[in-house]
This record gives sequence, C-alpha cells and structure tokens, in this order.
Amino acid sequence: MALIECPECKKKVSDTAEACPNCGYPINPQPKNNNFTELGKVHQSKVFGAVVLILGIAFIILSIIKLGLPKAFLTICIAAFFIAVGLLNLIGYYVITCPYCNSKTSLLRIQKTHKCNTCKKISVVDGDHLRTTN
Ligand SMILES: [Zn+2]
Ligand SMILES: [Zn+2]
Repeated sequence: MALIECPECKKKVSDTAEACPNCGYPINPQPKNNNFTELGKVHQSKVFGAVVLILGIAFIILSIIKLGLPKAFLTICIAAFFIAVGLLNLIGYYVITCPYCNSKTSLLRIQKTHKCNTCKKISVVDGDHLRTTN
C-alpha cells in the first residue's frame, strides 16, 4: 500500500482506495458484479411522426405535379428527409447502452446479441436489459 496523489485535488490518497476521500475522484472503481444496462425503448411522438410523414409525401406529390420530375429533385430530397424522420418517430427506436464501455447506440431493431461499435464486445439481450457475456 502506497500513497499517491489524487489526479483531481492533488491530495495524498491510498493507492488501494476506491475513491479519493477528499473529492470523490475514482481511484480504483469497483467492478460491478452484475454488468448490465437498461435497454431503453424510445418512442417519440407518433402524432408528430405521422404529421411529418404525411407532409413529406404530400410535398413530393405536389412538387412532381407543379414542377415536373427533373426540377422536383431537390424538393424530393428534402421531403425524403422528412419521411425518414417521420418513420423513425412512428416506429420508435432503441437507445442501448453498452454494458462494457457505456457508449450509447440507437437501433431500430434489436437482436439477441449486440456488438458494440466502440469496444467491439458482444453483449446479450436479457429481457429489458443488456448484459455482458460472462
Ligand atoms: Zn481528490
Ligand atoms: Zn462497448
């Protein structure tokens, strides 16, 4: 056991301490026994989604009728973005937190296992939780 300097408040702390007794800076954070995170299902407003979706479709139809196809290309692109936002809000999506590195990912569909984009580790979907494989 030795004394080290706290990186936060510069006071002397035991190198075996879980956290700095002075400022609470984590020196040796304890690994959790149950490594799982909540599986967050995010459903944004369905009404908002439907309105944006209908607006997008109406915009495409109107611009094709008014401008004709080549000229309507830009408006169709903008409208397609509206449709995508509308669909996303209508269907809902998951915001999942990696139980290894706590990085968040948004997903439309959830499988039995999830590979984290940040740490590349596999976690398992367990009910409404995501847990580590060990
Ligand atoms: Zn400190
Ligand atoms: Zn991760």
